[in-house]
Amino acid sequence: MYFADYHVHSDFSADGKDKLEEIVKEAIRKNLKEIAITEHYDYDLDGTAHYNKDFAVDIEKYEQELRKLQVKYAASIKVLFGLELGLQLHIKEHLSQIVKKYDFDFIIGSMHTLFQKDIYHFREEFFENNTKEEVYRLYFEEVLRSVKLFTDEFDVYGHLDFVMRYALEDDKSCHYADFRELLDQILRLLIQKGKGIEINTSGFRYGLGHMHPNTEIIKHYKELGGEIITVGSDAHHRKTLCSEFERAYAILKECGFSYITVFEKRKPRFVKI
Ligand SMILES: [Zn+2]
Ligand SMILES: [Zn+2]
Repeated sequence: MYFADYHVHSDFSADGKDKLEEIVKEAIRKNLKEIAITEHYDYDLDGTAHYNKDFAVDIEKYEQELRKLQVKYAASIKVLFGLELGLQLHIKEHLSQIVKKYDFDFIIGSMHTLFQKDIYHFREEFFENNTKEEVYRLYFEEVLRSVKLFTDEFDVYGHLDFVMRYALEDDKSCHYADFRELLDQILRLLIQKGKGIEINTSGFRYGLGHMHPNTEIIKHYKELGGEIITVGSDAHHRKTLCSEFERAYAILKECGFSYITVFEKRKPRFVKI
């Protein structure tokens, strides 16, 4: 099978645990054909300088190390220069500049925030004052606004239903029917703009019982004409690299996909699964 992990963090990301080279070596051990490193670039994560520094990777240092490894391991694996870009409407100009400045192979656009606040850190504030459906709706509305605003800044939309991960109740489920209009608008617009979605297998590790986005959303994306999908583990440790990929491919096939997408210099190419 052609395994290409398209969502991976090393310790260049504030929450990554392993050195980039250790990750590349692990990817080779696991027989991956490609690995896209997607360090966090979350700028102004909660409106304080503290997170700004922590969650925006030092791209120069990161690129320098990655280019070395690309050459060193070229015979064994393709290592892509990627980024997970934290999309927020108020920093559009800044993000555009960052994307133009470097020669990225692949960019995930992710929404980790709501009203300029990091959802993970402020989950109690969000979920104690609203029902989970209300928070999900606010999140999808923000995602839609970001898909309208950003075009050149990303290739695939990251973990589209990310918000559900942080609901406080045991039943975090997010039903397509409850948000149908909004989700269809998001998916249609992504397709129109030539963008894809990522299939993020970390949902299994979070005990959600499905990937991000959930299977219903993946099915609708396909029905609406979506073709571009990348698969990523969202590994922050080398041991979770490529986790649950066989299960992911099986679900994708069930949803009607026979290809995954890989990128180089931000150009998509389809690979049969
Ligand atoms: Zn993310
Ligand atoms: Zn990530």
